[in-house]
Amino acid sequence: GYGSYAEYYAKDFIKVFNFLGAEPEIIWSYKDLYASGKLDEAIRTSLNAAARIQEIYHEVSGSQKKKDWYPFQPVCASCGKIGTTGVFAWDGRQVTYKCEPDMVEWAVGCGHVGKVSPFGGTGKMPYKVEWPAKWASLGVNFEGAGKDHTSKGGTRDVANHIAKEVFKIEPPEDLPYEHFLYGGRKMSSSKGLGASAAEVAAVLPANLLRFLFARVPSQRAIDFDPSAPDTIPNLFDEYDRSREAFFADPESDLGRTFEAGNVDKPAKVFVPRFSTLASWLRQPGVNIEKEAEKAKGSKLSDIDKEELKERSRYVKIWLDRFAKDEDKIYEVKEQKKISMSQAAEKYFRQLDSELEKDWTEEELQSRIFQLAKENGLQPKEAFRGLYQAFLGEDHGPRVSALILSDKARARRALKKQYE
Ligand SMILES: [Zn+2]
Repeated sequence: GYGSYAEYYAKDFIKVFNFLGAEPEIIWSYKDLYASGKLDEAIRTSLNAAARIQEIYHEVSGSQKKKDWYPFQPVCASCGKIGTTGVFAWDGRQVTYKCEPDMVEWAVGCGHVGKVSPFGGTGKMPYKVEWPAKWASLGVNFEGAGKDHTSKGGTRDVANHIAKEVFKIEPPEDLPYEHFLYGGRKMSSSKGLGASAAEVAAVLPANLLRFLFARVPSQRAIDFDPSAPDTIPNLFDEYDRSREAFFADPESDLGRTFEAGNVDKPAKVFVPRFSTLASWLRQPGVNIEKEAEKAKGSKLSDIDKEELKERSRYVKIWLDRFAKDEDKIYEVKEQKKISMSQAAEKYFRQLDSELEKDWTEEELQSRIFQLAKENGLQPKEAFRGLYQAFLGEDHGPRVSALILSDKARARRALKKQYE
């Protein structure tokens, strides 16, 4: 169980912050985080600055601590409680504390007086100190806070002052959660936030969530409804467009938005469109890496592969949970003539005549790819042209499979384009 409502509350927030932070893979429980030693330096800094922190509490929120107050609560060595202890001395190595019988209403301390090193998970900082301590220690650069936290004199206000004056860092920008609608339901800065954030975390990678926040002005509400089938693919598309924009002009609006969604310096990467990847993943036996390589037109770099793996993970989740069933079936239909280059027309003509032969899906796929190159076409463009001719879309399932599912119709669709 949890020691107190506040602890329970804080734990939910910690989950969200870590999710949004620089280490999205690791969702720390507060115990693990302290035990890791990552907060030790911040604990030392804040114990040394106890007097200043007291002043900040007083100046910003008007609260008054006891004279010998230190921003740390050890676990009582005698009774094991944590919320009941108060530190009254710090010698640079150990804190001396008392387990107070009447410190809080919800628990009675045992009266034990002890001495312990504050490092490595023997206790915790008060929330208002721990919060900025985590910014300083974990490099969290996006942060969420409900209105009650950002208001003057509130928790966030105190935390901001401690960040600047004690830890000497700039507090992270606010992410106004009160504007976040999850499927139309308002996320509030209560227990619901943790639950909803965990839900979002399950369907989106952290960089996409940051992007989601970064792309709209904070005054506007973000309505994120992953259960609508297009929500997630559209978000990924927008993310890809903003990545392109960033590398074309980092100062452009889209480029800045992209940068804001990145914790690390953005790297150039090739990754297939979300919907393209989805169409590959829908088909059994498709080698995603090979397909991606074909789409790229050259070998995948290590970053490409990593990105492909991660995106595939989220595509699978999306296919599993949100994709429309009818999305999964593709049929060749003749489309009206699209304007295209002579090279493309020639490509279509050659492909049509080669379809007289019998093909395996595998051979045909590589022949289509080969043929594009022979005609001086970018494979990506060539495939887009074919999808346009067969489906009227920019993407679709594996093109050889699509053709072989109804070769006669596919050939008619090709003729329509070059005749
Ligand atoms: Zn005790």
